[in-house]
Amino acid sequence: MADVPTLSVTMLGAGQEVGRSCCVLQYRGKTVVCDTGVHPAYSGIASLPFVDELDWSTVDAVLITHFHLDHAAALIYITEKTNFRDGKGKVYMSHPTKALYKFMMQDFLRMSSSGSDALFSPIDMAMCLSFITPVSAHQLITISPGLTFTPYHAGHVLGACMFLIDIAGLRILYTGDYSREEDRHLIKAELPPVRPDVLIVESTYGVQSLEGREDKEARFTSLVHSIIRRGGHVLLPSFALGRAQELLLILDEYWKKHPDLHTVPIYYASSLARKCMAVYQTYIHTMNSNIRSRFAKRDNPFVFKHISSMSQPKGWEKKIAEGPPCVVLASPGFMQVGASRELFELWAPDSRNGLIITGYSVEGTPARDILTEPEDFVTLKGNTIPRKISVDYISFSAHVDYSQNAEFIDLVKAQHIVLVHGEATAMSRLRAALTAKYKDSDDEVKIHTPRNLETLNLTFRSERVAKAIGTLADQPPQNNAVLSGLLISKDYSYTLLDPRDLSDFAGLSTCSFTQRQTIAVTVGYELIRWHLEGMYGTVDDAYGPNGLRYLRVMGVVNVWQNSDTELCLEWQSSASNDMIADSTLALIVGVDKSPASVKLTSHTHTHDHAHPHADIDDPKLGSKVRIERLANFLEAHFSDVELHMPGAGEEEEGDGPALVIALDEATVRVDLLTLVVTSSDEVLQRRVEAVLNIALKTITSLNDSFLVPTAESIEKERLENGSGATAVPESQHDTAKTSSEVALDQDVKDA
Ligand SMILES: [Zn+2]
Ligand SMILES: [Zn+2]
Repeated sequence: MADVPTLSVTMLGAGQEVGRSCCVLQYRGKTVVCDTGVHPAYSGIASLPFVDELDWSTVDAVLITHFHLDHAAALIYITEKTNFRDGKGKVYMSHPTKALYKFMMQDFLRMSSSGSDALFSPIDMAMCLSFITPVSAHQLITISPGLTFTPYHAGHVLGACMFLIDIAGLRILYTGDYSREEDRHLIKAELPPVRPDVLIVESTYGVQSLEGREDKEARFTSLVHSIIRRGGHVLLPSFALGRAQELLLILDEYWKKHPDLHTVPIYYASSLARKCMAVYQTYIHTMNSNIRSRFAKRDNPFVFKHISSMSQPKGWEKKIAEGPPCVVLASPGFMQVGASRELFELWAPDSRNGLIITGYSVEGTPARDILTEPEDFVTLKGNTIPRKISVDYISFSAHVDYSQNAEFIDLVKAQHIVLVHGEATAMSRLRAALTAKYKDSDDEVKIHTPRNLETLNLTFRSERVAKAIGTLADQPPQNNAVLSGLLISKDYSYTLLDPRDLSDFAGLSTCSFTQRQTIAVTVGYELIRWHLEGMYGTVDDAYGPNGLRYLRVMGVVNVWQNSDTELCLEWQSSASNDMIADSTLALIVGVDKSPASVKLTSHTHTHDHAHPHADIDDPKLGSKVRIERLANFLEAHFSDVELHMPGAGEEEEGDGPALVIALDEATVRVDLLTLVVTSSDEVLQRRVEAVLNIALKTITSLNDSFLVPTAESIEKERLENGSGATAVPESQHDTAKTSSEVALDQDVKDA
């Protein structure tokens, strides 16, 4: 199982926290990063995810789910200040996200450049923006072969997407922030049509349930109304984009229904929001049917009747604060600095005023601290002032609550669930709830809550799936039925189809080739067989339709004898079969030329036909065969091997029968009686000894009674096997004989 590919998931941010979302996915050499946000409770470098923990030049793609700062604001730092540009990585976000991102980042730069710890410059921003590829929902985007993703609507804010990422066939759904409730302008998050292996899902609200939209809106508008009636100012800290538009739609409609409020101004103090309104009006087609139908009736819902979006002359906050009752939407939503903070400090001491927190408040921000309703409060200038202003919390933040999240997780049916974007307690409660829920489930669901920099290594059920199409898919598969067909692999996904369907699906046709090759041979069939067995192990005997006997090499190549001097090879052509056929052919040709080959007589040959089961391995065939094997073995290593027999009268060096190996200038002599190796070249001698040892181990039959044929042994063999089994020269006048053949022939003759 060691080579099972592993998906590693590393959170560089948003691991057991809300803020600086940054999730790194690595699988089969591909790296995808989902979101690059900052932490709203910190500023400067401290607000970044743990960017130093990743070699950004290895990243194939950065996918940004939506324009919120906690998901997108670190992007410019990453593309311009890390080694990201050294690699081939690309950055993707939806069209509306890209349009709004520009305004968001201008605002972010303006707010943060007041300090010395600005993360990037306006030039960095321009460079980064030009580098972003905008994408549309439901578009399949190929980043590189085997790496694709598809965005789906996530609700939450305009342009927000979840991403279904496919890395080498492994599917990961990363939700980003999402909502499953249709609000005034957005559709709810979609369920992607394919089942992912891993779901990486936000857990902001843990196991909390949020009140329904209508109840919530009613509670909100009546609270606003009552603060106005008591002569107070209403402060709605809000981010310029996203929930602000939703609140404006609600307030505008409420004012329309309540003429007594028409004298009460609603200020929407954001130049950023004014700029972005054009983007909202551009992307009406991505919104829900409520907005689209109003727009179709020339009633643009984003042209508000009762909202004054004012420019911001210096000191406007003070002017408004001292004026008559009004409603102000002011950013930022977390009240760290800026207009919302200034108004809050001005209005905090008056009990007629009201503060309504309308979004999720991140831990460590003033918007979160104020929810505890402290008696007094320290201003930005360091003065302690009393807090008399009423504080309420009605969340319009478009995140799923427990029941919506649990339902979505159920529908997605992923094997691994990774909880992110949640505070540790909320996350662990959600984990406990889900674990209890899936305790008795048949599918083994694993729930993970990684901390930042704690890499999850996920492995998957090892079975690979091939999709059957065409004729093969006509019938529902029977239990345990085996399907066979053509397996087509493309970018790590597999399709199985009947070869007859190939032209329908791919415009290709199939046919099978039978290849046949005829070669002239001067050696006997049994010798060929013996060599084939030496090379391929067992070679099957088979019989054709006319009782034709043939050999089947590796179940692929049929070899038979056409005539005494001709062999025929036949096989079904394919890349691997052709390879086996090639090697069979090479072997047969080699046998014919092998100097160590001992030709069996045609007489022997006929004899074998009469006894198809005669085995050349039979030890009774005697030592000649063994010598031949040894010679063959040595020949395979040292191409030139000769058999020297002590000839009558002629004195060779040494006296016994020997195999003599000639290599370069040196010769090596293997005494066949003693198996002692001698040579003038010591190195060569040791090499031959080593090979000889292997030979003796390999060719086991060599071990028992390895002896050179003597006159007695050959006579004995002849008697035991009948005369046909002994080798005699085909012709006394064969001029092509090598020394080994001559020697053996000589020996036999002598016998
Ligand atoms: Zn968000
Ligand atoms: Zn978020």
